[in-house]
Amino acid sequence: MTTLPKAVAAAFANPFRERMWINGTPRDASNGAVIEREYPAGKGVISIAPAATAEDAQEAIAAAETRFAIGDWADLYGGEKAKVLSAVAACIRRDAEELATLETLETGKPIASSRAEVEGSADLWDYAAGLARTLHGDSYANLGPDMLGMILRQPIGVVGIVTPWNFPLLIASERIPFALAAGCSVVVKPSEFTSGTTLRLGQYLKESGLPDGACNIVSGTGTEVGQILLDHPAVRMVSFTGSTRVGEIVMRSAAATKKKLSLELGGKSPSVVFADCDIEAAVDGVLKGSNFNAGQCCIAGSRLIVEDSIAEDFLARLAVRAKAVRAGCPFDPATTIGAIVNEAQFDQIDHFVTSAKASGAAALIGGQGSKAEGMFYEPTIIEGAPMDSPLAQQEVFGPVLSVFRFQTADEAIALANGTEFGLAAYIWTNDLRVAMKCARKIEAGRSWVNAAIAGLPELPLGGFRQSGVGRETGRFGVDEYCEMKSLHLFHGEQKERWVSGG
Ligand code: NDP
Repeated sequence: MTTLPKAVAAAFANPFRERMWINGTPRDASNGAVIEREYPAGKGVISIAPAATAEDAQEAIAAAETRFAIGDWADLYGGEKAKVLSAVAACIRRDAEELATLETLETGKPIASSRAEVEGSADLWDYAAGLARTLHGDSYANLGPDMLGMILRQPIGVVGIVTPWNFPLLIASERIPFALAAGCSVVVKPSEFTSGTTLRLGQYLKESGLPDGACNIVSGTGTEVGQILLDHPAVRMVSFTGSTRVGEIVMRSAAATKKKLSLELGGKSPSVVFADCDIEAAVDGVLKGSNFNAGQCCIAGSRLIVEDSIAEDFLARLAVRAKAVRAGCPFDPATTIGAIVNEAQFDQIDHFVTSAKASGAAALIGGQGSKAEGMFYEPTIIEGAPMDSPLAQQEVFGPVLSVFRFQTADEAIALANGTEFGLAAYIWTNDLRVAMKCARKIEAGRSWVNAAIAGLPELPLGGFRQSGVGRETGRFGVDEYCEMKSLHLFHGEQKERWVSGG
């Protein structure tokens, strides 16, 4: 029998127990219901979170609405908002190791990844703090001698933020501080599988002096809690990150109250490899793109589109290197990819792979997983799945790469654009003209040339086509949480009349 890592043994003995935050108060669900989270890389409960009721969600929305109406956060000087957001960043850094441990226990990802994501999250709060000081409108002094045009930037109001399980703290931190920097009040619903680190943000916001009710964090299921956020008339905007399937529900639900939406949905992103690239770097980048976070990544480079003249050699090298990708215990420093988040996700991955093989595609490596002790799936590379097959078209969300070949750049671009998605693209070439042609023609919200996955708060993220609408992070991300109000200020003598007489 393998010895349990200390952190796992401690959590089995005494599971993490975070509470939700409504109106600045830590709370259990009003009916006492809880969600017990099983460790995905083993067997046993590692955390317990409240399973909020519909009434709890309504209360959180009411608290956000009240705080927004009071206006002490919405109208607060940007420099003061910045202090609160930076203080949260400091809390995240202070508790970094504990947060990373909790993240790894709930997601099953390698501890090194969790540590990097925790630091990345702190950096997002710091970046948003900086933005809070720079948010301003615009003015037009060129509208004639007596007219001044002003564009007043105002917070949109109460925002609902619904997040998924793959990068819990990071995705929450790509949204919450930006909405707060804009002056909005928020209600956050993290994934029922991984709510721990997001719930902890409630404590940090309280410590940092955010007025009660400006940020409420309510754990529970999407159908119980998330749906209330979508339907409630007081919620003016919803930021949703998750599957394209639920994205459709969000859009349909939002229509009733005409909410603004920001949606980051599924992807089927291409890694396009040209013959002239740095082959070793591309092999490594393609492997990272398809296996990072065990492929449970919205921007996973899940389709390899490789130039025919190097395809045999490239695939051979890829297969050799892929064997060095170790799936295993998330707390073992030698592990490259951790566990699959839950059994449903494991079954989804396996179904895609077995169906592709059954219809004649070949697994160059991998092609199976194990549920014996935790859920793990081997890095898998599949060639021969037709472009119109489910494996080539749909989001697998596992460490599975499907391979296609091309002869010309135009053909590569057509293949890259050959799905309904448009979230990310990776281009490997040393020819600047080819790189720029691809970057411009491939429909993707984010693209990388000779790099994979990395992202920084300055650059916005989001998708084309069925990968979503709107942008998060960066200066454009904060705009989503703002209304721009036009003001026409006439400051001349009132001589002209629209109607005379009377
Ligand atoms: P979902 O889209 O179901 O979940 C994302 C979030 O939405 C969760 O917080 C979920 O709540 C919530 N949600 C679910 N239903 C509703 C609803 N009716 N109203 C409001 N909120 C709702 O993703 P899954 O976790 O089920 O994963 C399924 C697939 O989605 C994956 O296999 C993957 O393909 C894709 N996915 C894509 C992501 C991305 O970043 N693009 C991220 C995660 C998943 P809860 O689950 O707590 O009930």
